[in-house]
Amino acid sequence: MRFPTFPTLLRTFYTLSNCTARASTQYKSIQPLARGTVLKSMPTIPFLSSLFGTSSSSSSNMSHPVQKSDDEWRAVLNKEQFRVLRQKGTEAPFVGKYDKHMPEEGVYTCAGCDAPLYKANHKFKSGCGWPAYFDNIPGAVTRHEDRTLGMSRTEIVCSNCGGHLGHVFKGEGYNTPTDERHCVNSISMKFSPEDKVVDKTDSKV
Ligand SMILES: [Zn+2]
Repeated sequence: MRFPTFPTLLRTFYTLSNCTARASTQYKSIQPLARGTVLKSMPTIPFLSSLFGTSSSSSSNMSHPVQKSDDEWRAVLNKEQFRVLRQKGTEAPFVGKYDKHMPEEGVYTCAGCDAPLYKANHKFKSGCGWPAYFDNIPGAVTRHEDRTLGMSRTEIVCSNCGGHLGHVFKGEGYNTPTDERHCVNSISMKFSPEDKVVDKTDSKV
């Protein structure tokens, strides 16, 4: 009949509860810190850029009429344009210049080489945070299979210079003629309110 004495029980309880208390205190003190870190790093979206970010460029060995070295591209593109267009980066969602841009007419051109890519009437509201188009100007955009990150996606690049534009997603159920969504980084494009450039290119092809 040897029961632990009351002080021993008390000590055990105290040790246990103290551990628990300490653990939860630690948890609490870590929590805001971690949250702070996540919030602080949100504007640059390191997670997203590591997810969609720079990867070996599969299209660099493809033939595109416009060929430039990285140094030449750096001379004509700003840092972010270079990261997205030449290193296959992805801009943060909902902040791009053309995300909510819905002009009646005009043309979106490649920010790297000015080739016309999309017409204003190809654009639709997808709500995904990036400019969305259901089709492109014929021949302006080239597709590649992108197998990075353990999934299969379709990368789209400018046919003229090989600049990375974004990805194409199919069968998402948008009410568009193609049921495709060209999810394009705003920074990869410029906009011209005139359609003339496109007509010139169309007649050339
Ligand atoms: Zn281009």
